[in-house]
Amino acid sequence: MKTLLHILIIAALATGSAFADTKVKAGPRKGLLLDLGGKQAEFLVEKDRSISIAVYDAALKAQPATTEVITATAEAPSGKTKIEFEKKGDLLVSKTKLPEGEGYQVVVQAKSTPDAKTKNFRIKLELHTCKECGNPEYACTCDE
Ligand SMILES: [Zn+2]
Repeated sequence: MKTLLHILIIAALATGSAFADTKVKAGPRKGLLLDLGGKQAEFLVEKDRSISIAVYDAALKAQPATTEVITATAEAPSGKTKIEFEKKGDLLVSKTKLPEGEGYQVVVQAKSTPDAKTKNFRIKLELHTCKECGNPEYACTCDE
């Protein structure tokens, strides 16, 4: 399984989906905004370590997550874990929780529609709250 996952990741990287290089922007829920091109997805780690994704239009108006296709890979020291999402109301919520610990990378692969090009976002999982901006550290907007 691990090998298969590894191959899938390499395949995803090889298809030319470059990692997005954007300034940190936080959304209305203090999560990290991921630019999906026209739409924005807000990555938020809930208290129970599940991930919820809210979708907004370019003006940050909430949209139901109807066409978005999102998966994530937690690159925890204990190994890579693929995380899938399911629709809950207007949100996409992870079916599994993030592995224990923090400081590791979470790679989110997202596209706004099934036919869109996949965008990869690398998020360093730092869960403490930044004292200056009040956001979780992975969505800290200070000095950026
Ligand atoms: Zn901050």
